[in-house]
Amino acid sequence: MAQKFLVIANCKQGGRTAFFDQLLSELASCSVFDDISLVVMPPVPYLGQLVSASPQVFQWGVQMVSGRSGTAWTGSYDASMVAEIGAQYVCIGHSERRQHDREDSLVTISQYQQVVEAGLTPIFCVGETAKQRAQGQSITILESQLSAVFNSDCFAKLPKHDIIVAYEPVWAIGADKPADAQSVSTEFSWLTSYLTAQFSHGQYTLCYGGSVGPGNCQQFAKLPEVNGLLVGRASLDIDAIKGVLLECSGY
Ligand code: PEP
Repeated sequence: MAQKFLVIANCKQGGRTAFFDQLLSELASCSVFDDISLVVMPPVPYLGQLVSASPQVFQWGVQMVSGRSGTAWTGSYDASMVAEIGAQYVCIGHSERRQHDREDSLVTISQYQQVVEAGLTPIFCVGETAKQRAQGQSITILESQLSAVFNSDCFAKLPKHDIIVAYEPVWAIGADKPADAQSVSTEFSWLTSYLTAQFSHGQYTLCYGGSVGPGNCQQFAKLPEVNGLLVGRASLDIDAIKGVLLECSGY
């Protein structure tokens, strides 16, 4: 069976109960789920109630886990906890966490390990900043972020699992003027070669994220290298996320 196109809705620190109730009821009536696999990542406090109320048409994820073991980590939660309340996916290495929460490669590796060991699927985000891009370092940065996990001793010992990589150029996230597919074609070619060299065809999914919404989602969805989209702000606008789902069904 052909792999469905993946849409990941990162609700960031947004949405409240009324919003999520409406989102659930409106998305449940979308007739796109034969073509699209939708993963919704609400803020963790809402996850349990949403999973209980959820029609089984889409799947759930969270935006991070601690990666730490043991109990003496006030304010933290680990992957086994979110697995218990219904998460199937965990976002790892999002640039907002790398930047503002100082999650470096070592933290990313421990989070990745914890997620896979809990039986969940990591959504591993990578991407260069505007400055790194201006200095011609995009590929070097992507390689170092990917290799930090995929070439680590810890990765080699993990059980086989689905690989999801989201290329999210930092300069395109939350941007007023989104990237166009043409401007990231070099990075996509490189990512495809890198991933096909590491993993067998069909074992990985390559997604794009960075100011995706209705109107520009198709230009990324139609790239042959891209099998999914990571949608940020547009996930908090019900018409916009429905628009993305409708425009991307069939890819
Ligand atoms: C994101 O949060 O990963 C993201 C891509 O955000 P936005 O779509 O708002 O740029």
